Amino acid sequence: MMSSSLIDRARSVMPGGVNSPVRSYRAVGGEPVFIKRANGSKIYDVEDREYIDYVCSWGPMILGHNNKKIAESVKKAVDYGLSFGAPTEKEVIMAELITSMVPGIDMIRMVNSGTEAVMSALRLARAFTEKSKIIKFDGCYHGHCDSMLVKAGSGALTLSHPDSLGVTGEFARNTLIADYNDIESVRRLFAENKGEIAAVILEPVAANMGVVPPRDNFLAGLRALCDENGALLIFDEVITGFRLCPGGAQEYFDVRADIVTFGKIIGGGMPVGAYGGRKEIMELVSPLGGVYQAGTLSGNPIAMAAGIAQLTELKENKDIYLRIDRMAESLEKGFKRMAKELELTLTVNRVGSLLCVFFTKEAVTDFKTAKSSNTKLYAKFFKHMLDNGIHMAPAQFEAMFVSDAHTEEDIEKTLEKAEKSLREMKNGGDFA
Ligand SMILES: *Cc1c(COP(=O)(O)O)cnc(C)c1O
Repeated sequence: MMSSSLIDRARSVMPGGVNSPVRSYRAVGGEPVFIKRANGSKIYDVEDREYIDYVCSWGPMILGHNNKKIAESVKKAVDYGLSFGAPTEKEVIMAELITSMVPGIDMIRMVNSGTEAVMSALRLARAFTEKSKIIKFDGCYHGHCDSMLVKAGSGALTLSHPDSLGVTGEFARNTLIADYNDIESVRRLFAENKGEIAAVILEPVAANMGVVPPRDNFLAGLRALCDENGALLIFDEVITGFRLCPGGAQEYFDVRADIVTFGKIIGGGMPVGAYGGRKEIMELVSPLGGVYQAGTLSGNPIAMAAGIAQLTELKENKDIYLRIDRMAESLEKGFKRMAKELELTLTVNRVGSLLCVFFTKEAVTDFKTAKSSNTKLYAKFFKHMLDNGIHMAPAQFEAMFVSDAHTEEDIEKTLEKAEKSLREMKNGGDFA
C-alpha cells in the first residue's frame, strides 16, 4: 500500500481526501503521508518509513504513542463492552481526577470533542450572565462551532477563509474580536458594549497561530476586566490543559478562570472533550439547571479508560513536565543557535513543551506578527524535514508538541536534520 494510491481513493470519497482539513497538506503542498502505526516518539507510514513525530496527534499523545499503560487500560475496558448509555464508575473516576488536578473546578461535564466543549461553555456563560456577546481573540482557535469561526486560527487560518461559508451574520454579530496580548483592545470592547459581554474566551497560550505566549499581566488583566464588568473568563485549555503542568494554564500563570474547556490530552488519544467550573456555574447544566446539553456517547467507557490512564500518569509523575520542557528547551536553543550561525530570519517561541519556529525576524506576539512569517519557507522546511524522517505540523500556524517518549537522541537527530535542511535552503537562495 502506498500513500499516493490511497490519496486518490480518499479524494474521490472524502472532501480533500481527509476528515480534518490540515491533514490534506494544502498549507505546505504535496501529497499527505498516510500513517499505519505509531510507537513512542515515532510514527510509521503505510510504506513503513519511520518519522520522529512532533505532531503527536495535535497534542493528545503527551506520553508518546502507544503508551503501554493507556493501551492496557483500553484493552481491559473493551472486554467489558464498548458503550452502555448509562452511568459508569469510570466517569466518576475521571471527574474526580480532573477536579482534583485543576484549580477552581468543582464539577465537570464530559463531551466528545474540544469543539463541543467550547460550544457548551459559551452557552453556559450566556445563561449564567444573562448576556449575549462573547469576546474572542484574532487568531485563537476554539473549534468549529459557528460563533467561533470568526477570525479563527489553525486550519481556518491556513486555508485563508477564516470566516467560513455557511456561518450567518447573526452568529458572527455576537462575537467581538480583540487582539491577543492587547489588553486595551479588550477594554475598548467592554466600554463599547456595556453590560452586554457574557464572556471573554481565549487560549491562555495561543497555540493555533503558531505558539504565542501571553505577555506578563495579560491574563491577570483579563481577569480584572471580566470581574469589573460581570463577565466570565473562559480558558480554552484544549491544548494547554495538562500540557503545561497538571493544573494547566491556571496553575502555570496563577490566574483563575470561571469556566475551563478541555480536549486532546484528557482523552489519551480517544475523542473526548470536557468543560468545568465552579459549582454555582455548573449547576446550571441539565439536568440540574436549564442549560440543555447531552451526548449519546459522552463519557464513553473506552475513552474514559484511556483518559484516566493518561491523567493518572501525569498526576503521579510530575517530573514528566520537567523532562518534556527540557527537551523542548533543547530544541528551542538549537533552532536559535542555527538562526544565529546561519544568519537566518527565524523567531522561536516556546512555552513549556509547546514550540514554534516562525520564518520572520519580528517578535511574534499576536496574530498580525504571526502572519509576518514566510509560509513558503515553512512549507519548504517542512518538506525537507519530512524527507529526513522528521514529522512536523504540515502548516506554519501550529505548535510542535514534545512528548515524554522523545529522547535526547531524537532531539539531537532532529536538530541535525534541521540544520542540514536550513543550510540547503540558505545555499539554494531561499533566505536571500
Ligand atoms: C483543537 C482545539 C479545539 C477543538 O477541539 P476538537 O476536538 O478538534 O473539536 C478547540 N480549542 C483549542 C484551543 C484547540 O486547540
